Amino acid sequence: AKAQGKGRYEVFDAQMRDRVIRLVKMESELRHAIEQQMLSVQYQPIISLTTQETMGFEALVRWHHPERGWISPAEFIPIAEETGLVIPIDWWVLQEACRQMKEWQDRKLTSSFVSVNLSCRQFLQPNLVEQIEQTLKSVGLEARSLKLEITESAIIENPESAAITLSKLKKMGIGLSLDDFGTGYSSLSYLHRFPVDTIKIDRSFIDRIDKEDDGLEIVRTIVSLTQNLGLDAIAEGVETSEQLNLLQQLKSNYGQGYFFAKPLTPIDAEKWLSLSVLN
Ligand code: C2E
Ligand code: CA
Ligand code: CA
Ligand code: CA
Repeated sequence: AKAQGKGRYEVFDAQMRDRVIRLVKMESELRHAIEQQMLSVQYQPIISLTTQETMGFEALVRWHHPERGWISPAEFIPIAEETGLVIPIDWWVLQEACRQMKEWQDRKLTSSFVSVNLSCRQFLQPNLVEQIEQTLKSVGLEARSLKLEITESAIIENPESAAITLSKLKKMGIGLSLDDFGTGYSSLSYLHRFPVDTIKIDRSFIDRIDKEDDGLEIVRTIVSLTQNLGLDAIAEGVETSEQLNLLQQLKSNYGQGYFFAKPLTPIDAEKWLSLSVLN
C-alpha cells in the first residue's frame, strides 16, 4: 500500500510539473505574441430584438499561434490574468477596438458602439480612467461610442473604489455593462447601486430558457428586474429561433449570439454592416 501511495504521488508530481511547464511556456509565448502583434480583435454584433438593428459590437481578442493555430481566450485570458499580462493585452484591445470603430464611423458604415471587456486586474489599475480618456482622445472616438464590460468580481473586490471609478466613467459618457450576470454573487438589489446601464445575461441562462421548466421563469425575472431598475438587458449566447422568440416575448431588448452572428473579423464585420438593411 505504501509503494502504491508513493507511485500516486509521483504521478501527481509529474502532472503538476507538466502543468507548470505548460503554463510557463504559454506565458512566454503570450508575451512574445503581444510584442510581435500576433493578437487580433473580432467583433460580435449586438442586436436589437425589437428592430433587428445592429446596436454595437463586442470586441473579443484572438490569438493566432504559429504552430498551434487559434487559441481561445477562454484558455489564455485566465493565464494572462494570473501573470498580469492581461493588462497590456486589454490596453491593446481597447486601443484597437476604438480605432476600428472610429474608422467605421468615419466611413459612415455605422454609428454604433464598441463594447470592450475589462479584466478585473485592469479595472483595479489606479490610472484606469485617465488612460481610457487618453485612448479616446488619441483615437478621436466619442465616449458614447464606447462601452466597457466588467464582471461582478471586479466590483466585489473593492466596492467603494469600484463605485468611484464607475461614476467617473459614466460621467464621461461611457456605457457600462455588467458581464456574465447571474454567474457570480449576483444580487441585483446590491449591484444596481453601481452606475451600470446594461446587464449581460449569461449564456448559461439563455441555454436553459427553452429546456428546463424554470429556465424561462429565471430569465423572465432577470429581464423584469433590469427593466424595473431602468437598465438594458443583453441576452448572451442566443443560438436558436426558439430562444429568440421567447426573449422577444419577455421583451428583452438586446441579444447576441451565433443565431445572429459569430464574432467576425473586421472585414466580415464590414460586410455584415453593409448587408444589414438597418445598422
Ligand atoms: P465573454 O466576455 O462572456 O464573451 C462571450 C463569449 O461567448 C465569447 O467567447 C463569444 O465568442 C462566445 N459566444 C457568443 N455567442 C455565442 C453563442 O451563441 N454560443 C456560444 N457557445 N458561445 C457564444 P470568446 O471570444 O471565446 O471569449 C471567451 C471569454 O474570454 C470572454 O467571455 C471573456 O471573458 C474573455 N475575453 C475575450 N476577449 C477578451 C478581452 O479582450 N479582454 C478580456 N479581459 N477578456 C476577454
Ligand atoms: Ca464580455
Ligand atoms: Ca459574457
Ligand atoms: Ca463569459
